[in-house]
Amino acid sequence: MLTLPNDAVRQIQWRFADRFDLQMLVQSARGVARGTVARLVAAGERNTHEWTPGKNGMMEAFDSAGITAAYMEPEEGGFIAGPKNLALALAAFELAWVDSGAATASLAGFLALSPIHERGTEEQAKHYNRLSAPAQPGEDRKPWRGAFVLTEPIPYVGVDTNMLNGKVRITEWKDGQEPWLQVEKRGRFITNIAFANFVTAAVASDDPRIKGTCFVILEETDEGTFDHGSPTKKLVQQLSSTGDPIFSLKVPASRIVGGYTVKDGVIVPNHSHTEIIESVFRRTRVPVGIMTASKLLSSIEPVIRYQRSRFRGAENLTPGSARYEQGIQQREDALHRLVDVWATGEAATALGFATARLFDELDPIEKQKIAILSERGVQGGRAELKALRESGQQAIEMLSLEANDQRRKELAADPLVQFVLLDAAANVLCPATKLWNTGHGANMLREAVSLMGGYGITEDCPGFLGGKWMDAQLEATYEGPEAVQRRQMTITMTSEVFLAEFQAWTNEMRRIAEEHPGVGAGALVPAMQLWQWTLNYLQNTTDPDGRKLYHGQRQGVTFAMADAISWLVAARAQILDVLELEARGPEDPVVSEGIEGTVQFFSDLSQVQAAAAAGEVSRITGELVFGYSAGDEDASAASNEFLGLQNKVTESLRGSRLAKDRAASTVAKIMIPEALDYPA
Ligand SMILES: Cc1cc2nc3c(=O)[nH]c(=O)nc-3n(C[C@H](O)[C@H](O)[C@H](O)COP(=O)(O)OP(=O)(O)OC[C@H]3O[C@@H](n4cnc5c(N)ncnc54)[C@H](O)[C@@H]3O)c2cc1C
Repeated sequence: MLTLPNDAVRQIQWRFADRFDLQMLVQSARGVARGTVARLVAAGERNTHEWTPGKNGMMEAFDSAGITAAYMEPEEGGFIAGPKNLALALAAFELAWVDSGAATASLAGFLALSPIHERGTEEQAKHYNRLSAPAQPGEDRKPWRGAFVLTEPIPYVGVDTNMLNGKVRITEWKDGQEPWLQVEKRGRFITNIAFANFVTAAVASDDPRIKGTCFVILEETDEGTFDHGSPTKKLVQQLSSTGDPIFSLKVPASRIVGGYTVKDGVIVPNHSHTEIIESVFRRTRVPVGIMTASKLLSSIEPVIRYQRSRFRGAENLTPGSARYEQGIQQREDALHRLVDVWATGEAATALGFATARLFDELDPIEKQKIAILSERGVQGGRAELKALRESGQQAIEMLSLEANDQRRKELAADPLVQFVLLDAAANVLCPATKLWNTGHGANMLREAVSLMGGYGITEDCPGFLGGKWMDAQLEATYEGPEAVQRRQMTITMTSEVFLAEFQAWTNEMRRIAEEHPGVGAGALVPAMQLWQWTLNYLQNTTDPDGRKLYHGQRQGVTFAMADAISWLVAARAQILDVLELEARGPEDPVVSEGIEGTVQFFSDLSQVQAAAAAGEVSRITGELVFGYSAGDEDASAASNEFLGLQNKVTESLRGSRLAKDRAASTVAKIMIPEALDYPA
């Protein structure tokens, strides 16, 4: 590979080569990122917590570039029809390439609308989307901005929500008329709050005439107090606004997100706040994971430039000499570490976009599922679980059949079977994206920063790497810190349907390993087997005190297994992207030139990453299987079985360091532009 990967390569890898609408969105988001946003960062706008005219100008630039409208339906002023998960992930990728605070500022508006989008009534969705859409030509209005208000001052809710201090009660309810509600809510760390015109806020009933919890929509002009609060003194993502607002407002009951029914004189919201949070975060956590991934990939070019030019200008150093031309890239470790950063960035991006695409597939099928079940008189709750359990068994049966089996084809065409399969995968891949991309990604951004020496931790560092590293910690924290993702995975990764899918993924990797030996699938197969064997072992084994090993309360076991599988699914996604490029690249007029070298380089990176993933899984599972054992007889039989599998993992690493050497030699020669295309 002679140059850094271009857009045509990325469009194939991330599967939007045939989506002109998405390509346009990428170009316009990139324009704002490398123009307006980069100039703000370079001008030191990150050095103030205040909401400045410059930062406000950035929001307007999002509107003009079509980024705000990317969330809307065409009839609401948008330009993308159908599901928009991949679209929003791509926009977040472009913005975070320069500054993830900018990406957060854009996503937070969508987050505010998400409760209404996912569970709001049709009128609510239409009304607030229309208000939030940028003005059309000839229209004289400013788009509304929103904020999502869940988190409260300690000791109440973070994202892991049971104690909700925000309250709602009835102040007025005249016969035959809409009830009026009094809402009291204090928020903590609320994004976009400096300028929000409306918020969606989580509250609990403080009135026997209202049942449970809900989300309510509050507007700036409602009667009472809408205090935007003072700005949070953040160390990160200062291009977004964050603060602690206070609301004490009177609103009509029609502001309850998703509406309500009245039963025996009690208002029963159609959706509790937890139900809404689940459906919202499920989608919005994916672009957050993409943000960190983007920053990892954005660090490659500035690091290469720094490494090569490190010694230029020194006395007696002549152009053409190895020291002049290659600088620190003469040293193997500098190249190998950069390859590790690059490989991680590829895996994180592959996983994030694969998950975004999965949600694009899931969205219409979820609607179909709701329609089918309601036709059968089944609506949510236990009845739905029961109905879907049967489809779950059919999905498992389907996965056990040969590809050309007629029964398999019939089952695969059943929308409910499709739903349970996509749903089970999404329930693991979404938290895995958020957890691995941001958590491990933040660690690897530190590696990138370290490759720039002292420069890395200055404001002058090209690519703003120091800021990007710090910002990643926020990506790992908001919308649920790592523990929340791990807890969710503790449950979802043990579902019968998911484990059957995981087995099918392992078989798929085995086939790939035979047909494409250089992409790292060979290392992934035994690691995936080791993970699944270990899960089964942990679920059926107790510690020396007779306590179950795999148990929700035993985070030392369950969280470690969640980490391990995240490495695996990321490496798998990366391998699938390489295969896509190999299959489609030769047909593409731009990509086909030099395609062999490009595929070779990406294969080497995925082999490096698969080896790292396999090593990590081997270490984690080894610690769990041996670390909780007191060395009795039964355990040692299992230990031998484990060691047999673990040996296979070690053997499968054969050649992976040679792949790293090859990738390093490409990185040492790859051409980069004279200067970064955004200012330092
Ligand atoms: C800049 C910024 C912007 C934000 N924007 C918004 C916003 O727009 N809207 C909004 O509602 N919120 C927002 N938040 C809040 C954010 O979502 C929370 O800060 C985050 O979810 C973490 O919650 P917490 O701060 O209460 O941390 P805690 O829950 O106190 O977590 C502290 C530590 O304990 C661990 N932990 C927590 N629970 C468990 C458990 N059960 N098991 C094991 N370990 C656990 C966590 O992983 C973490 O390491 C924002 C926060 C920041 C900093």
